[in-house]
Amino acid sequence: MSRELTTELIHHPYAAPPGFEAAQPGVYKASTVIFPDVAALRARDWRHKQGYTYGLHGTPTTFTLEERIATLEGGAQCLLAPSGLAAITLVDIALLAQGDELLLPDNVYGPSREFARHELARWGIAHRLYDPMDVAALAAAIGERTKLVWLEAPGSVTMEFPDLAGLAAAARARGVLTALDNTWGAGIGLRGFDHGIDIVMQALTKYPSGGADLLMGSVVTRDAALHERIKLGHMHLGLGVAANDAELLLRSLPGLALRYAAQDRAGREIASWLEAQPAVRQLLHPAFEGSPGHAHWRAHCSGAAGLFSVLFDERYGAAQVDAFVDALRLFRIGYSWAGPTSLVVPYDVRALRAGGPRPHLRGHLVRFSIGLEAVADLRADLAQALAAAFG
Ligand SMILES: *Cc1c(COP(=O)(O)O)cnc(C)c1O
Repeated sequence: MSRELTTELIHHPYAAPPGFEAAQPGVYKASTVIFPDVAALRARDWRHKQGYTYGLHGTPTTFTLEERIATLEGGAQCLLAPSGLAAITLVDIALLAQGDELLLPDNVYGPSREFARHELARWGIAHRLYDPMDVAALAAAIGERTKLVWLEAPGSVTMEFPDLAGLAAAARARGVLTALDNTWGAGIGLRGFDHGIDIVMQALTKYPSGGADLLMGSVVTRDAALHERIKLGHMHLGLGVAANDAELLLRSLPGLALRYAAQDRAGREIASWLEAQPAVRQLLHPAFEGSPGHAHWRAHCSGAAGLFSVLFDERYGAAQVDAFVDALRLFRIGYSWAGPTSLVVPYDVRALRAGGPRPHLRGHLVRFSIGLEAVADLRADLAQALAAAFG
């Protein structure tokens, strides 16, 4: 049967020879997945990953990435979401129903709290904040309706490191599920399942990408039934990730542990230099003595992210601290972290804590994310900006 060229270019008979092997896996892009016959179409079940049904339910590329992220976190199953925040909201939506209550640490990643406040509240799901530095306070906060406790180690921006194992045990004793935002630990510095956590979420946007050029999140579990509950929510919400982004992550993962260690080392060098500067009132970096929760960091972690905050002394005005940030040249002003470029963001500490001011948080907070530039150059940049702003 002779066919026109447009048809021939689509239904071309050539197939490349099998048996190609390269160091990196191939990249498969699909919305449509082709079935060999109607029987296959009817037989395949997207739930069990035994075959392919539709791009949203996975391709060899996303299945491969899921397996590697599950291994990274020490879990058994993984779901991918289009951002870290989407991974957080997926867990909430999949596991909570009207009348339930959610507990969040008071230093939780801000948008997670905003989701609870603005969306979950409208669906009749309440949330309460607990002090993550007080295990007894969490135990006391758990009520009949509590169905999920989020944990973060360390807390976003203010960097307090909680007694993670203690918090997880308190929730488990009451039969309540725990979910850890492990973006900081990245599965390298901290592994949540070793400390009794049920669900480990991560913003792959940060360390696993390392490029500051993609958004993705993961939800890892060890329990098949729990995974299935979250997977149903994932399916109903229509969450998918792009093959090109999955490809970038598969490209970046082999270097993850090396980047994490290098950024940890550089971060500690720069933090310890900054801590000694007269304008600095306090360093907030869990690997440093005197930072809130340092003993818990030692008990739980084998490393630290290249991320820390500094409190500039209250005697300076906020405008002076802003001038310091503006004077930086290599440190760029921007959100997110763990990319090659060092970043800096000033935060208003008073607006960060819904639970009221904390005595250890006095002064003007600036968060630093250390990239991959040479430490000496970053230090020189900080020195010139300190001199320009504080004299
Ligand atoms: C960045 C971040 C997220 C959200 O990740 P996105 O991909 O930016 O949505 C969640 N939790 C923490 C701790 C983060 O730092």
